[in-house]
Amino acid sequence: MTSGCPAPAPTYAQQQMRAGTIAAGLRHLLHYIQSEPAVGQALALIDTDDLRGPLDGAGLQLLLHEIEAEHDRCAALAERDARRQEAGHLDGAACTCGHSDTLHTRHMTEDDRLPCHRPGCRCHDLIFELR
Ligand SMILES: [Zn+2]
Ligand SMILES: [Zn+2]
Repeated sequence: MTSGCPAPAPTYAQQQMRAGTIAAGLRHLLHYIQSEPAVGQALALIDTDDLRGPLDGAGLQLLLHEIEAEHDRCAALAERDARRQEAGHLDGAACTCGHSDTLHTRHMTEDDRLPCHRPGCRCHDLIFELR
């Protein structure tokens, strides 16, 4: 294990520069929000806890990909739960292909299917037998 030196505390001059840079960015953004309220509404939708880097084009693009993936994942899991409940099964129930629901994809196909992931399984969609 290496114990590096702790980063030196920033000087007031550095802190001042940083605050000035952020303030300039915020003024710029506020200007856009005032002239284009839709920008402000869009920004208000973003949870800054989800951000792990700067809020620049690349950062927003990355966040968008992550949020879309999360949206897809939750949509697939919600669909899985709905199908399972509809059929009256509990968590971890098996599909008609014999594999557990958790072995099925967590990404809905274009035509709303949840195929099985198990190699060699030809199950095209997660289906529970009615109880
Ligand atoms: Zn299946
Ligand atoms: Zn299967």
